[in-house]
Amino acid sequence: MTRAFNFSAGPAALPEAVLRQAREELLEWGSARASVMEISHRGSAFMELARESESDLRQLLDIPSSHRVLFMQGGATQHFAQIPMNLARQNQSADYVISGAWGEKAFSEAGPHVQARICASSAAGGFRDVPASTDWKRDAQAAYVHYTTNETIHGVQFHEIPDVGTVPLVADMSSDILSAPIDVSRFGIIYAGAQKNIGASGLVILIVRDDLLERSPQPIARIFKYAEHAKADSLFNTPNTFGWYLSALVFKWLKGEGGLAAMAERNRRKAELLYRTIDESGFYSNPVNATARSLMNVPFFLADAGLDQVFLKEADAENLIGLKGHRVLGGMRASIYNATPIQAVEVLVDFMREFERRHG
Ligand SMILES: *Cc1c(COP(=O)(O)O)cnc(C)c1O
Repeated sequence: MTRAFNFSAGPAALPEAVLRQAREELLEWGSARASVMEISHRGSAFMELARESESDLRQLLDIPSSHRVLFMQGGATQHFAQIPMNLARQNQSADYVISGAWGEKAFSEAGPHVQARICASSAAGGFRDVPASTDWKRDAQAAYVHYTTNETIHGVQFHEIPDVGTVPLVADMSSDILSAPIDVSRFGIIYAGAQKNIGASGLVILIVRDDLLERSPQPIARIFKYAEHAKADSLFNTPNTFGWYLSALVFKWLKGEGGLAAMAERNRRKAELLYRTIDESGFYSNPVNATARSLMNVPFFLADAGLDQVFLKEADAENLIGLKGHRVLGGMRASIYNATPIQAVEVLVDFMREFERRHG
């Protein structure tokens, strides 16, 4: 049995070194004489992991002291609802920018908790671009502006941080957090489910500006309040300890690989190679406007959709897995997150060229 080159969109590939270390430590973690899954989250060993992982993440993203880091649960989807609960009154407006399927979902989940309005959308063009921030029809009184930095399904990514003045900017970064350095100070909230570019599912990293924690607009249970989780250093209730541990290993791995600048360079090279292969062929296509193409998720289509199943079957035989496109779009999708080595993309593009030669 061999580990495949894995292009899954999420849950997605983890760095092999991290999995090896987790295997090594599975029965006895450090001096705990038990697995990290089997000990108290309030004991000194786990508290130390919590402290150090936050410190590593702060270093990686250069998070300013104005922002808190929370290790949460519920997936990004739960926070689609929890963010308006924490930031707005029900009769207040909040602006949503829609550049793909996840933005649409965030907008609809916010519905019961805030007067959500769409201030820009690229739906009419089939989500092949991001709406230019100069065209956003924003409400200056909005409680916040929400957007999705990388649309995992449509393969559309913002490559610049939009300027929204003094309105807090809230970003779903589930599929591109840690893929490149970013200026955290520009954001009110950054949140990300871990299973794309960090670790395992069931953990959400949420970075929130201090002053937003003081907003307490709706009568909600304490478990939903970000301020309560901040006060308890993310130990308000039992956290996803194994997921947190895996993320901590990934943060160490990222630091060892040279940090986010090194990741950004590697990610750019992988994406360039894949898009070049698609664009130079007369057989594969990617519909996204070149300036908005995602460096993380690359959807592509075969000239003859009748060959999709053959492509997937032959790819699988070459040890290339996770390439089936999302059911909304069909076709193929190669997700090339931090944990995907350049070699995996090289093997993929060789296979694509060979497949085109035989079937194109
Ligand atoms: C996967 C994904 C989500 C949903 O994550 P869950 O953990 O399944 O709730 C939300 N937003 C983006 C951008 C995603 O890629």
